[in-house]
Amino acid sequence: MNAWQPVIGLEVHARLLTRSKLFSGAPAGYGAAPNTRACAIDLGFPGVLPVLNREAVRMAVRFGLAVGARIAPRCIFARKNYFYPDLPKGYQISQYEDPITAGGSITIEPAGGPRRDIGLVRAHLEEDAGRSVHEGFGRGTGIDLNRAGTPLLEIVTEPAIHGAAEAAACMRKIHTLVRWLGICDGNMQEGSFRCDANVSVRPAGSQTLGPRSEIKNVNSFRFVERAIGYEIERQIDLIESGGEVVQETRLYDPDRHETRPMRDKEDADDYRYFPDPDLLPVAVGEAFVAEVRDGLPELPDARRDRLAGQYGLGAADAAQLVSYREVADYFEAAAEAAGSAGSEDAADAARLTANWVNGELAGALNREGLRIDEARVTAGQLGRLVRRIADGTVSGRMAKAVFDAMWGSGEEPDAIIEARGLRQVTDAGEIEGLVDAVLDAHPAQVDQYLGGAEKVLGFFVGQVMKRSGGKADPRQANRTLRERLARRRDEPPAGQTP
Ligand code: ADP
Ligand code: MG
Repeated sequence: MNAWQPVIGLEVHARLLTRSKLFSGAPAGYGAAPNTRACAIDLGFPGVLPVLNREAVRMAVRFGLAVGARIAPRCIFARKNYFYPDLPKGYQISQYEDPITAGGSITIEPAGGPRRDIGLVRAHLEEDAGRSVHEGFGRGTGIDLNRAGTPLLEIVTEPAIHGAAEAAACMRKIHTLVRWLGICDGNMQEGSFRCDANVSVRPAGSQTLGPRSEIKNVNSFRFVERAIGYEIERQIDLIESGGEVVQETRLYDPDRHETRPMRDKEDADDYRYFPDPDLLPVAVGEAFVAEVRDGLPELPDARRDRLAGQYGLGAADAAQLVSYREVADYFEAAAEAAGSAGSEDAADAARLTANWVNGELAGALNREGLRIDEARVTAGQLGRLVRRIADGTVSGRMAKAVFDAMWGSGEEPDAIIEARGLRQVTDAGEIEGLVDAVLDAHPAQVDQYLGGAEKVLGFFVGQVMKRSGGKADPRQANRTLRERLARRRDEPPAGQTP
């Protein structure tokens, strides 16, 4: 395997969240009845003139600044000519020689490996085509042109990714970023975020690129990883058995887990690109760029590092919290409600909050397929629950029951704790009583423990929990058990002689 180095470059298409299309005033949203949202400009009727959408330019610049790209002071729209049933104009307006942004990078953290910057070649604006619809037309095909003219940002990486997992990580980072910036909703089912993967292999140590195949429109992170993994193996097997990789476009079939040839790969020449004579060159002024820069939020990597530092979180926890900006916001609001300012205990409260957001809350959202802004427990409520764990009112286990009840009813944690009597037993006398009763009831296990079988302690803790109806503070039970057992070792109860 290591005789070959895989080389991957991604082309990500992100649908920009503008209200209208890239060159017309037709609405740009998803999901309307077929062919109700394309106007004469989107269809390229004779005599129409496209007018560039300023918001789309703003969003492209926003992305460019976030990845450290150069913003071109002047960029050009070009026609990319090809025939396809969903493209009645016969050309797509895109950018070719002078894209709006060039360069920049995305930082990935492969599992276990060091952080690595993946360079970007460019990100350019282009319009989307319509869509062919196969279901419900028998042997025919329907054409829905609603999508025609919708603004896309195409983000192109350098061929600098060297594995399927790295490629998926890179795609995830781009996904997080475009959502974070509010320029794309990232919905992969609806095709708002799609990815073409260019894959080649070369002998390890070689600097020349091998011929590549381009896997089209893979619409999930898992499929991207699997499709690329499959394609790398296919190419290596092909070369090792004396064959040759040809430049072509392939399609990934997730059901069969294979890629199949779709068509020969076109070259740029085939598209006969030329500057669109209906559109003027675009001058992006310094003041415009400065204004966009001023409006940038704290970016995901910076926020991850700040969360880790400010709240004392582990790297994995902090990284998970910035997968969506809304999650990071939720966490910070919850941590504040949990009382995470200042002291040593406060750091514990913050870490506990992170565990709850990444654990119990994420699990509940996943189960019901909800986004965090649809969570049935607010950040404030979760923070107030964490406060009750931190101050010992409820145990972690009880807190899960309280959380479930909050999720169901939307009530405050204190109300649920009170109503259900879920208060943890922390009274020292009460715990000692429980411990003594358990030890008296199990003399044989006491002898085992005193004879060196320390793991019997777990059994005793279980018995104390059982006697308390699950309400004893397990940490305190544990501590009291050790004390009482140590005392029995030192001074056996009356009536027994050593
Ligand atoms: P096109 O637009 O015709 O697909 P580009 O040259 O713009 O071609 O490259 C598109 C993508 O393909 C980029 O992400 C680039 O990094 C990647 N790429 C180009 N050559 C190779 C190669 N030999 N192996 C892997 N990826 C490649
Ligand atoms: Mg391509």
